Amino acid sequence: MADNEQWFTEKCEEGGNAFGLRIKGKLHEEQSRYQKIEVYETTDWGNLMVLDGYTMVSSLDNFLYHEMMVHPALFIHPAPQRVAIIGGGDCGTLREVLKHPEVKQVTQIDIDERVTRVSEQFFPELCESNQDPRAELLFIDGIEWMQQAEAGSLDIIIVDSTDPIGPGEVLFSADFYRACQCALADGGLMIQQSESPLIHQLIIQRMYRNLHDSGFSDVKSLFFPQPIYPSGWWSATLGRKGAAIEGFREQDVAQRNFETRYYNSDIHRAAFAVPEFFRKILEPQS
Ligand code: SAM
Repeated sequence: MADNEQWFTEKCEEGGNAFGLRIKGKLHEEQSRYQKIEVYETTDWGNLMVLDGYTMVSSLDNFLYHEMMVHPALFIHPAPQRVAIIGGGDCGTLREVLKHPEVKQVTQIDIDERVTRVSEQFFPELCESNQDPRAELLFIDGIEWMQQAEAGSLDIIIVDSTDPIGPGEVLFSADFYRACQCALADGGLMIQQSESPLIHQLIIQRMYRNLHDSGFSDVKSLFFPQPIYPSGWWSATLGRKGAAIEGFREQDVAQRNFETRYYNSDIHRAAFAVPEFFRKILEPQS
């Protein structure tokens, strides 16, 4: 590393590892009511948003995360019309949901409006669907909104939250999962970003326990690469109400009228393949 180069580095204390991107400089910094928000211009990965020192989204690799947080769950569901996104302030998840013509209404509830306003300025490509008439953006605590949601009123819940610390911690609680399970219609699915399968196994075990205890009849995880997150290998965990998490609308995937850069039927199937070590960490949970 030439000594006149600048780098942004995130240290993952619990993993004893770090991730860095070479940067040209810092484009933005502010302290919102909930978190510190920074945006860097990198030399090779586009812009990088960081919340409280943790990487959130980069221009180069966010498609991996946003596509895998949305398309598997929506193609498993037979008719995903009513969607809620908890968190998701950068709006990349919202953009992917709105590609689905079956979706009639999507409400995004992020606690911090500033994340969305900063994303509109530095990640406009992620916010290109924000004016879609089917979309509603609210800025309140996700658990408060979910606890007031009408029972059986949702087909899909996507929890695109920060890590289980700070304002995001409540979104990994049994109380929140019970509220989600109640708000889902029968056959509905919840999917939540569930950290690194390599480093955060205790968090994932706790999620499985809380999801099962909250009345979800089936719980499964899917895996995908996400270079800017700790270990570069990420997961999302799904809970389904009153049905098994199996099968998907494969013909609809093949005939979809929108582009994806990572997700397709092969990726859908492969993402749900369970690594042997992961099977073992879940044994006490299932
Ligand atoms: N892709 C990122 C990841 O995996 O870490 C998450 C992206 S998104 C920017 C995370 C969002 O969760 C932030 O905008 C944050 O404001 C929001 N958030 C955290 N706690 C929340 C809560 N209790 N209710 C609603 N949104 C919350």
